[in-house]
Amino acid sequence: MQEHFIQVAIPVPMRQLFTYKLPKNIALADINIGQRVIVPFSHRTVVAIVISTNQQLPGEINANKIKPIISVNHDKTQLPSSLLSLLSLCANYYQHPIGEVVQKALPALLRKIETPNTLPNMQWLTTNDANEDELAKIAKKAPKQHQLYQLLLKQSGLSWSELRTLGYSKAQLTALEQKHLIKQEEVVNPIYNWHEGLNQADKLSLSTEQAIIVSAITNTMDSFACHLIDGVTGSGKTEVYLQAMEHTIANNQQVLVLVPEIGLTPQTLSRFELRFNVPIFLHHSGLNDTERLITWQQAHQGGAAIVIGTRSAVFSPLQRLGLIIIDEEHDSSFKQQDSFRYHARDIAILRARQQNIPIVLGTATPSFETLHNALEKKYQHHKLTQRAGNSIKSKIHLIDIANQPLTFGLAKPVIEKINQTLSRKEQVLVFLNRRGFAPAINCQECHWLAQCLRCNKPYTFHKGQGLLICHHCAGQKRLPAQCPDCGSVRVSPIGQGTEQIEQHLQQKFEQYSVIRIDRDSTRRKGELAKILKQVMNKEHQILVGTQMLAKGHHFPDVTLVVMLDIDGALFSYDFRAAEHMAQLLIQVAGRAGRASKPGKVLVQTQYPQHPLLQDLVHNGYRHFAKQAMLERQYAGLPPFGYQALIRAEANFPSYPEKFLRSIASLHFAHCEVAGPMPAAMEKRAGKYRFHLLIQAKKRSYLHKALTLLLECADNNEWSSKVRWSMDIDPLEL
Ligand code: ADP
Ligand code: ZN
Ligand code: ZN
Repeated sequence: MQEHFIQVAIPVPMRQLFTYKLPKNIALADINIGQRVIVPFSHRTVVAIVISTNQQLPGEINANKIKPIISVNHDKTQLPSSLLSLLSLCANYYQHPIGEVVQKALPALLRKIETPNTLPNMQWLTTNDANEDELAKIAKKAPKQHQLYQLLLKQSGLSWSELRTLGYSKAQLTALEQKHLIKQEEVVNPIYNWHEGLNQADKLSLSTEQAIIVSAITNTMDSFACHLIDGVTGSGKTEVYLQAMEHTIANNQQVLVLVPEIGLTPQTLSRFELRFNVPIFLHHSGLNDTERLITWQQAHQGGAAIVIGTRSAVFSPLQRLGLIIIDEEHDSSFKQQDSFRYHARDIAILRARQQNIPIVLGTATPSFETLHNALEKKYQHHKLTQRAGNSIKSKIHLIDIANQPLTFGLAKPVIEKINQTLSRKEQVLVFLNRRGFAPAINCQECHWLAQCLRCNKPYTFHKGQGLLICHHCAGQKRLPAQCPDCGSVRVSPIGQGTEQIEQHLQQKFEQYSVIRIDRDSTRRKGELAKILKQVMNKEHQILVGTQMLAKGHHFPDVTLVVMLDIDGALFSYDFRAAEHMAQLLIQVAGRAGRASKPGKVLVQTQYPQHPLLQDLVHNGYRHFAKQAMLERQYAGLPPFGYQALIRAEANFPSYPEKFLRSIASLHFAHCEVAGPMPAAMEKRAGKYRFHLLIQAKKRSYLHKALTLLLECADNNEWSSKVRWSMDIDPLEL
């Protein structure tokens, strides 16, 4: 008999596919590309995804050595072929092991060997194979099974969870299924009538600017185009998304909306829900495994008209995808910062191109990469220049703190402005991108500094918990009562974080309520929504927070924003620091004010004359971006060049350095190589870290270099002694 071979992707860090054969009881016709199969792999069994079937075995391989697969899943969880080809494009672009890339497209429950028994879209029905004798036998021997059979005969199409509620067990179902009396089937989705769910009543009549953009998008719904909507917060971008989406949904096609990690607010969601009475599913880190599976299946089977999600939603198995929207495209949470370091925006563009559909990027502060593509006319650049409803843009003022005393970190004119704002019964937002009480503690006598020994960085003091926490490895320690070096009790915090500012502001403005919004204060589920509601109800007058406040939320009664400590970004080793600082500043400024009460933004800085700050404040983001991009162009930095960062770490500092040194000695044609050099955090969680930067004028040069690097790295004597990875288009150096 002829043997059949298939190739599968397995979640292991190896850049290859694996070949298996089909056992006798599985026919070639039973196997499809994208299906989940169970296979033996070294000493385990794992879930693998079929990438190709009917594979020819290369001559030199002994067919007897190839193992057979164990089983195939027929539970309608097959990955669509368009998604599979996207995943293999990604594996190639990011030079990442295909098995790990494919995993990204599977919810946790489908990565397990046991098929989840909550597959909500499966129903049980009777077959036509029953015979009287057999049924009589079952009635006698297993009355409960018989009862179950009778139930399904009467009421076809019950789901497992319904049956479980009625008191039946999985074993009873399996027994009947093995006797071919019942079978499991996918719930057939109704015919879509999504256009009936479009709520026309709340639709706003568009401004001319908006209308032009909506028609630019909707005129070419069946071809690829990337639209950048460049408009300040409140200029009506969301309204444009909604009206463009309407066309897709009326066509019974699906829409994918990507939002930053913490940008999906209840306000945003309810706006979608009000406008579209169609099935909307969410995909974000707050969901449990079952909820994630449900979103995945609804996307897959077409039940979901809209999927709104964070980064990894870009891999949703939407089979009738018609439009992709990326809100706040500049946000760095779209880039994954470990293992498979992909950028969801870039993959979304790839996906839109591959599926021939439009994609919309919206932001008030386009990333330089996007802006560059728009200027090169690769994207359609649409500008929204007015705030909808005629509200006025917040004005930004620089407050020179170089030569004036600060009280609790605030300059005198800033405190005055806070006072005035509060007495007008308006709200104040104080922004500091540093959680905790103080970024360090030390001994006043001998200057001992409490440091995390695994990272060689100061511990952050969290007063509320009485703990020293390392923000790099999450290591914790009790606050020492005495200095461990000299025994002095004068151990005290230096610098300030949000926790301290909150405490000081509460002392200073004791008749008002101060609330802190950062990762620490919103850790509990539902806490952020609760606090935001209190802010909207004006239960708090002063808000203190980190960059969490810069995303998604809008605070109409906040008319004063104070930004502390932005100077680090002006002199950073990271060439993107200024870009990110400017985005943050404009974003935070955009959260404040409304038509009748425009917002004011005060930025405390030691360097008010710094040309980048001056440019940003006086000429706005677009002008700033053009100037800053010229500098990048002279230096050949992204978006005018392409980079890959090779990271290596080990328990001894010499290993990663030696590994990278030998990589650096390879001949990479048309590429510049910088390093090896110690990473910005040279030591983290006990590991010594080095990196090597490879840069080229053309992406193809870089890609060739990386291919060569991969070929050589495996034979490198140091490669087994270090952990190393590649970061294509790195955002963090
Ligand atoms: P963005 O997404 O750019 O922040 P939104 O779409 O949320 O902007 O619009 C900001 C505010 O202006 C919202 O309250 C919205 O209802 C309103 N708005 C948007 N477009 C219009 C319009 N064409 N006419 C009247 N109000 C509008
Ligand atoms: Zn001391
Ligand atoms: Zn640490």
